[in-house]
Amino acid sequence: IPVSTFAGRRVALFGLGGSGLATAEALAAGGADVTAFDDAAASCERARARGLALADLNEADWSTFTALVLAPGVPLTHPAPHWTVERAAAAGIPVIGDIELFCRERRARAPKSPFVAITGTNGKSTTTALIAHLLREAGCTVELGGNIGTAILSLEPPAPERVHVVECSSYQIDLAPSLDPSVGVLLNVTPDHLDRHGTMDHYAAVKARLVDGADQAVIAVEDDWTRAIAARLAGEGRAAITVRSDSSDAARYGADGAHLRHDGKVFADLAGVASLRGRHNAQNALAAAAAVAALGVAHDVIARGLATFPGLAHRMEPLGSFRHVAFVNDSKATNADSTDKALSAFQDGIFWILGGKQKEGGIASLNGFFAKIDKAYLIGDATEAFAATLEGRVPYVRCGTLDRAVAAAADDALASTAAEAVVLLSPACASFDQYPNFEARGEHFRKLVAAWLAQHGAGA
Ligand code: ADP
Repeated sequence: IPVSTFAGRRVALFGLGGSGLATAEALAAGGADVTAFDDAAASCERARARGLALADLNEADWSTFTALVLAPGVPLTHPAPHWTVERAAAAGIPVIGDIELFCRERRARAPKSPFVAITGTNGKSTTTALIAHLLREAGCTVELGGNIGTAILSLEPPAPERVHVVECSSYQIDLAPSLDPSVGVLLNVTPDHLDRHGTMDHYAAVKARLVDGADQAVIAVEDDWTRAIAARLAGEGRAAITVRSDSSDAARYGADGAHLRHDGKVFADLAGVASLRGRHNAQNALAAAAAVAALGVAHDVIARGLATFPGLAHRMEPLGSFRHVAFVNDSKATNADSTDKALSAFQDGIFWILGGKQKEGGIASLNGFFAKIDKAYLIGDATEAFAATLEGRVPYVRCGTLDRAVAAAADDALASTAAEAVVLLSPACASFDQYPNFEARGEHFRKLVAAWLAQHGAGA
């Protein structure tokens, strides 16, 4: 999306990873004079190869810049944004991100174009993907991106006939002062990411901004923070559409078990929907239903769409099975908390592939599951640390690569006497030691599993 609002003006941009590069190109395509910088040489090299002008922002004359744009991938804990933010403050210019650029461009091009923005501590990606799926099933043209998948400025431009469905991290909301979606969805606010946001008050206030700016707000009122935000909006005469997965009558959209209700009336049943199991997914499904209904989709169409949701790729994604062995891709589990959820989903017969670039704390917190793991297959940098944690408690092998891990785990699972076995990739680690990102790791796993299944004459 060429961003025209900075045409002819100078903009400083920090961060040239994937989406930073897309941001720089969008600004340049719209006629801005971009001075881009990154402290990683490889990112600079790639940007230079794409024809972008690079300059050291430390040396630049900040009085000529009209804004500092921070790339979405750059965490505020990274040392560089701090000094760039200080320089921007000293120069009196705003610090913004790619969502802000999108909002300004939308206002200039198609101010009423449908735009759904989603945030929350948990469930963002599931809800975002589900909203996109429901809209597509209803016949809409959907552009899906933001914090999930494609960078927002790499999507097609805003237009009345296109719905933009955008997952927003707190960080992106923080850098988007004029965020004004047609529908804003807030799922939950629980302690997380406090490293970046300081206090819980500030974290909740950032999340609240997404629904504050929305024409219509959808809020799951299941924690104190979101309840307070919904109450404030109601007090301002802008009542949100409320959602509760733990009640069937205390909100506009409620649930009793797997039955989803709107104003008390059952409109959908999640009982047979494998991709939306669990109460947290009832919250996601209700919020998604409320959001697309706010855009005019009928509840019977929503019910049909919920039933066909394939689930998120790389997140407890079933890849097929052969005899008693199922394969599940949970490559997105980049820390022990996420893997905790994966391991709790199975009884026993778990052949667990894990490892990669280790996160703080390792896998010690998962020891409650160790008894039900048949064997662990270690890959990547974390191998020795994880081996030490598993020693004497879980049988394990050092596999080094995912290729060897899949081969070993699949054969062991097939030979096992378990009534049901699962070969589970849930690494509890980042992927950067061996892959560009968790998606690439998951894709590789998918290929290896498909090859193993084909070899055994099984369709996925
Ligand atoms: P996010 O994009 O916010 O990280 P995801 O949709 O990728 O969230 O889900 C990540 C994990 O968080 C899921 O595997 C699930 O265990 C948990 N989760 C999903 N939705 C919710 C929710 N509404 N409330 C609490 N936890 C959730």
